[in-house]
Amino acid sequence: MNRTDPPPPQHKRLARPDPAGDQQRAERRFTGIPVSAGIAIGPVFGVTEPDAIVTHQKIAASDIAAESARLDAAIAQSRKQLAKLKARLAILPEESQEELEPLLDAYMRMLGPSRLLRGVRQRIQDMLVTAETAVVAESEALAEAIMAQANGDDQAGLQRRADEIHEIGKRLVRNLTRSPFRSFAGLPSGAILISESLRPADAALLDPSRLAGVATEEGGADGHTAVMLRALGVPAVLGAPGLAHSMKPGDVAVVDGLSGVVTLNPDPATVAAARRGVTAFARERQKYARLRRLPAETQDGELVELQANFELPIELPLIVQSGAVGIGLLRTEFMFMNRETIPDEGTQTESYRTIVEAMHGDPVSIRVLDWGGEKEIEALSAAGIVPEAADPNPALGLRGIRLLLRRQELFETQLAAILRAATAGPVRVILPMVTTVQEVRAARETFERVARRLRRRGERLPEKLPPLGIMIETPGAALSADALALEADFFAIGTNDLTAYTLAVDRAETDLAELYDPTHPAVLRLVQFAAEAALRLRMPVSICGELAANPKVTPLLLGLGVRSFSMNAAAVPRVKQVVRTVEIDECVRLARRVMEQSDPETIRSMLTSFGRPAE
Ligand code: PEP
Ligand code: MG
Repeated sequence: MNRTDPPPPQHKRLARPDPAGDQQRAERRFTGIPVSAGIAIGPVFGVTEPDAIVTHQKIAASDIAAESARLDAAIAQSRKQLAKLKARLAILPEESQEELEPLLDAYMRMLGPSRLLRGVRQRIQDMLVTAETAVVAESEALAEAIMAQANGDDQAGLQRRADEIHEIGKRLVRNLTRSPFRSFAGLPSGAILISESLRPADAALLDPSRLAGVATEEGGADGHTAVMLRALGVPAVLGAPGLAHSMKPGDVAVVDGLSGVVTLNPDPATVAAARRGVTAFARERQKYARLRRLPAETQDGELVELQANFELPIELPLIVQSGAVGIGLLRTEFMFMNRETIPDEGTQTESYRTIVEAMHGDPVSIRVLDWGGEKEIEALSAAGIVPEAADPNPALGLRGIRLLLRRQELFETQLAAILRAATAGPVRVILPMVTTVQEVRAARETFERVARRLRRRGERLPEKLPPLGIMIETPGAALSADALALEADFFAIGTNDLTAYTLAVDRAETDLAELYDPTHPAVLRLVQFAAEAALRLRMPVSICGELAANPKVTPLLLGLGVRSFSMNAAAVPRVKQVVRTVEIDECVRLARRVMEQSDPETIRSMLTSFGRPAE
């Protein structure tokens, strides 16, 4: 598209509507998915509609059609978002539904044949400006025109209409610009962040030392946002319908990351109960901290490897304190997120080396970039490495190893950085989203070629190349595990994507969260099949999906022969405690019984009752 900036560029910020501040608001409860344990009490900080900064941009007359098409796509996306929010209102109490439904209806009407949209189209056409420029200008003009009618009596009603126009304008601009990343600069210390949705890249920007808790309307139990929040150790509830739209500035909230309940304006009894919960949680943490130095060893002397997953550098101290023996899954997406350009070999080398050194000789399994699905990375789109247009089915598209094999430069740069960092301590390399043996062979060729090139360049590398393993996170990989085991040096079973692909449920989806079940017999059978393929060859196999962090499932996984687990740092002591109380024989018996079941409910109850004395 041929766009020209008129000098000087004008920066416009969409005005934030001035919400009516009720004084005494009644307590209201919202239920979502608990994704990160802990209880938080604090003032709310709403990031429902981040301010979009729009540069006034002109277009050429020949671009009018393309710009109108962009507008149409943003309108369709906005309608879809609102329809989704509306569908989920049904589970809210009646008074909340009565409050929110007319609002969402008003938004929907504005996204139909409205004065607002007619004006926006007209501006694109007549003034030759981009769709976002037109939306900003038209929504401001319209809101001003509405407020100009104020004659005293109807002030509140007119203000509401003007606010609605601003809100819909902001949603359109957000969908048009796919606003890069949010700024949490204004987040007051001790606040609870509430938003409609939070992308993984947004979550990566949060500072857990300032933030008390997080609650959103969208998101699923094992989506990457949930993974990030657990990594940060911030109490969090995702997927609580109506929450962000009911909150008002000045509200206080309690987020219970254990039960999944978020309470707005808690009454004194709720606050007192929450305070007791905070104390109990802190005590439990202290109890677990004592396990840190004890070995992860079963009652009958079997040693188990418990490692940590790594998402963000901020986690390093937590990992060190958790008692984890190394990093079993280093998700390198953090290196590429929330930055304008792709990090070069030197920058990546330094980052990986710092992490490897911090592990003091414990192994670090570095997974090469796993782009795709819900993991959006602006720097890659900006560099033209990934397609700019949204993939209609991102979970099934160009992702993980598929992208890396097609973008050799990106792949080689990262492998070179990992190889150089491997002189600082034991390193292993993991390939994501593998589905065929050819992918492993091709990746190994690249790996060896990069090593040869580095040696020619005079770089110091470990004498023996680091092991090259693969994620088993698609049913295709699990079912061809016997063939893949002949190509890979180790398996890391990723139960998050494996569950999503096996059960055909998006891991970040709120509405189908009850169907996302990593202990579904189909998932467990794939885990068993893959683990056995590795064990037959005496090849290392670990589990690094969120299932590894669930202490209820630890005995089953031990019974299936798995002896290596990688999980968020906070989960290490809880899992260790279970490891230290079981015997392998009883785990094997449990696994035999569980693997005969076909009903997920029966499996859940078997896992829950294991180890408990019969009543
Ligand atoms: C998985 O899919 O289980 C996994 C560990 O990878 P990620 O969560 O990063 O997709
Ligand atoms: Mg995965």
